[in-house]
Order: sequence, then C-alpha cells, then structure tokens
Amino acid sequence: MPPRAPDPRDAALAQLSLFDAAPAPAPAATPATAPPPAAAPPRPARPARPAAPAGLASTPPARAPATPPHLAPTEFRHPQANRELRLDGHLVAYALRRSRRRSIGFVVGTEGLSVNAPRWVGQGDIDAALRDKAGWILRKLGEQRDRARRLQAARVEWRDGTTLPFLGETLVVVLDPRTRGAQLQPGAPTADGAAAADGRAAQATLQGVPHRLLHVGLPQHATPAQIRDAVQAWLQRQARQVFEERCRLYAERLGVRVARLSLSSAQTRWGSASASGAIRLHWRLIHFGLATIDYVVAHELAHLREMNHSPRFWDVVRSVLPDYERAKDGLRQAVLPVFD
Ligand SMILES: [Zn+2]
Repeated sequence: MPPRAPDPRDAALAQLSLFDAAPAPAPAATPATAPPPAAAPPRPARPARPAAPAGLASTPPARAPATPPHLAPTEFRHPQANRELRLDGHLVAYALRRSRRRSIGFVVGTEGLSVNAPRWVGQGDIDAALRDKAGWILRKLGEQRDRARRLQAARVEWRDGTTLPFLGETLVVVLDPRTRGAQLQPGAPTADGAAAADGRAAQATLQGVPHRLLHVGLPQHATPAQIRDAVQAWLQRQARQVFEERCRLYAERLGVRVARLSLSSAQTRWGSASASGAIRLHWRLIHFGLATIDYVVAHELAHLREMNHSPRFWDVVRSVLPDYERAKDGLRQAVLPVFD
C-alpha cells in the first residue's frame, strides 16, 4: 500500500474494537453544488493485511436503527469542537479543520463530527453544506452513540462472577484456587437458579439462557489482567478443539481436505481459506452457538471447492447447511464481548 497523507479518520480507526463499525466518511460536498447524499457511504481504507484468496469478511455488527432525528432533541459534542450549529433542532458541536483540500469533507467517528474544509470556504457555506447533509450526519451520530452504548454494555469486567458468552451459552467465571488451570464444571449446564445459588452469579443472568461455571485456578485477589489471560487462554483451547471437530465433520461432508487449521485474530474477517487447503478461523467465534460456527466452517471449506462467492459457491454451502442464511444474518448482528 503506498504511503498516504495523515487522515483524521486514522485516529478514530485506531480506537475501534474488533469487528466494530468503522467511522463513516460522508460523501464530499462542495458548498455550491452539494451532491445528493450517497445511500451507502464508502468505508474508509483499512490497514494492509496479508491477502487471503478467499475469505469471509466480517461486517460491522448490528446496524442500529437510525435515531429518529425528530424525536428528543439531543446534543452531539466532539471533544475538540470549535464550531457548533443546530441541525433539525439538535445541537451539533464539531471539530473544524482547514486544509488544502478542494471540497468540504465530513467524517462521523467515535468522537463525533469532524469537518475538513478548504481555507477559502466561508463559515456560512460550511454550515449550509452541513444542513444539506443533516439527515446523514444525524443518523451517523446516532449510530455512533448507540454503538458506544453497546460497547459499554458488552465490556467484560474481569472479576469473580463475571459472565461472558461461550458457544451461545453464558459462562460464569468462578475464581477457585483449588482448580488447576481452568476447568469447566462437569455435568449439564447449570440452570439460572443453581448459578445464583452459587452465590456469585446473581448479576447479569439472562432468564432462560443456560449457565456453565468455569472454575479458574486463581485467588480472589487476582488482578483483572490475570483473570482475562486465564479465561482467554482457556477459550482459545476450546476454540481449537471445537473448530477441529467441526472442520473434520464438514470436510467429510463436502469431500475436501483441510491441510492446516489455525486460529486467527484478524481485524476484519471471521475466517479465510487458501487454495492449498489452509483454513484460518477467528478464535472469538467460540462465543457464538454452533450454528454460527458451523456456518463459518462450512463457508471456508466450501471455498476449497469454489474459490469465489458465485452462485455455485453458495450451492455448495447450501448442500451442507440448507439454513445457512439465518446463521449468516446472525453473524452480521453479532456483538462480541469487549476484552480490555
Ligand atoms: Zn468467502
């Protein structure tokens, strides 16, 4: 990738968590003749990554419905705001930068609205261009706010009793110095009542979602980082085991041979396949239920027969997973717990 000039978007991109929506750049607008807003603004360029011939790119999770701008006037303030105006009754404080560019550019990122404008464009023209794009800007600001809330809710607090999804169920972390390493409590998934009776899992329990206790060999005063590392290592071991088993199963059904299976933690894709038969699967798929994992496995293995996304490729996927569309949609909506 050729070097490029510093882009204000990069700062926002660097803060993105795995699989989260990238900040959306608005279509450039010139003050005199602003083009109609694009239906789907292009996503910003991502950092170069090793090319994989065919892979399952992840899409940002849960495109939240746009916040209806006409309801509940609200305030959106960029931390470096130096200008503000009202758009459909909402106060939007934005960061204006002047540059050598030839048109006005907008970016809605995690921090809010940034505007880049040529030095010769007057403030009145900038505000007019923003008003012209008010619908798009307010929708993106609303989406960023929803996303920030979802991320906050998905953040894992690493302590005794914390919960996180595992194979579509809820895993309850129990600090237990008597345990060697980390061990899933044997036996059937624990019902809500039993988990609560354990005295540690009363919080954050979803009714009806089975709970399983993961005993981790750490003392009560273990640091969050120690707990995270122990649980993450355990999850990765489970991922390898489960993925190997599912790959074996689907390779047999599809009549293909997997030369090598490895875990990945790529930023933008759940899996990839190369013509040589090497399959890579994102270890965090282990949070999802088997239907989702199977979809990614079958998708990548189907590439060993069709190295493309042609109708023939989807026929191959359908031949082993008739209901793959559902899992595909589920993956699109997925929100991963945030580890930090
Ligand atoms: Zn693919």
